[in-house]
Amino acid sequence: MTTTARAYLLKEFGKPLVAEDLELPDPDSHEALIEVEACGMCHTDLGYAQGSVKPNHALPLALGHEVMGRVVSAGDAFKSLVGKQVVVPAVLPCLDCELCRAGRSNACTAQKMPGNDIHGGFATHMVVPAAPLVALENVPAGLDVRALSVVADAVSTAYQAILRARLKAGDIAYVIGAGGVGGFTAQIAHAMGAKVVTLDISEERLQMSAEFGADAIINVAGQQERDVRKQASSLAKGWGIGSLNTKIFECSGTAAGQMQAYTLLGRASTLVFVGYTFEKVNVRLSNLMAFDATAMGTWGCPPEAYPPVLALIFKGQVAVEPFVDYAPMSTLNEQLEAMAAHKLTKRMVLDPRN
Ligand SMILES: [Zn+2]
Ligand SMILES: [Zn+2]
Repeated sequence: MTTTARAYLLKEFGKPLVAEDLELPDPDSHEALIEVEACGMCHTDLGYAQGSVKPNHALPLALGHEVMGRVVSAGDAFKSLVGKQVVVPAVLPCLDCELCRAGRSNACTAQKMPGNDIHGGFATHMVVPAAPLVALENVPAGLDVRALSVVADAVSTAYQAILRARLKAGDIAYVIGAGGVGGFTAQIAHAMGAKVVTLDISEERLQMSAEFGADAIINVAGQQERDVRKQASSLAKGWGIGSLNTKIFECSGTAAGQMQAYTLLGRASTLVFVGYTFEKVNVRLSNLMAFDATAMGTWGCPPEAYPPVLALIFKGQVAVEPFVDYAPMSTLNEQLEAMAAHKLTKRMVLDPRN
């Protein structure tokens, strides 16, 4: 038996995605068949579609890694999930290797990322490993459950970055890049009791972050890095927060953002790279030594950290709905074009049922 999915396939880099039938095998003992209800569109999808980033799976490939949907069928050990709505984490770890057993499953070498390693959520259905699925329970009335698709990547990645930085109440969080993951990083840091400063070149994104989480904003457009550093330091000083309690989150995924993040480092402070760019930057690594500072990267989020992320949303401490827009999945190519032209201000959530 197979299931025929309607999928939006990347067949050739730089060309529009093509809607075609895709035969999916029945889920095996460790898998689940998901009926996709919503899939968020991420910059990574655009990178794959344009061919600037190459997916691991051969073409044709259904892209999309921000999925929520309903479990249609599953292997024997996962029958309790059937009929439930779930978030499909963007990183699906094996949960059995050395890294997974050490609590670092988001770095699992056998991980599967939908729309990269396996067919993704730009489709009516998908087959995924069942063990990492996160069941959606006690969703507050009035919350459009489709908005929770962005928890698969953007919100959970932000949460994991904050865990990695060991952010706590009373810290200052500098968030570079106020949209997408950065916007959620700002909200979560604020919910955890930190003072939050967002830095961006877009006044629109900054104003949005001021409404949701940021205590102060800095428009860095056209500014020297050291001048930005001065403004940032004076804010920290005003709140009486020292460099030990300084946590910097680079979420812009740009070389300029990475340079700026690095200049904000001080003694014993912490810098986390959350965004991705193919570009290289020229920095003096010895600053880390001189400041006894810590710099680290973070990738995805382990499945066990998803329930606390959902709890923050359900308690109203992190807003997702103001940051998303909905569109039928049939408009996917238009949405990708709009993203490429920087015309989208919100996370586009695509519904394959219309
Ligand atoms: Zn993504
Ligand atoms: Zn693993």
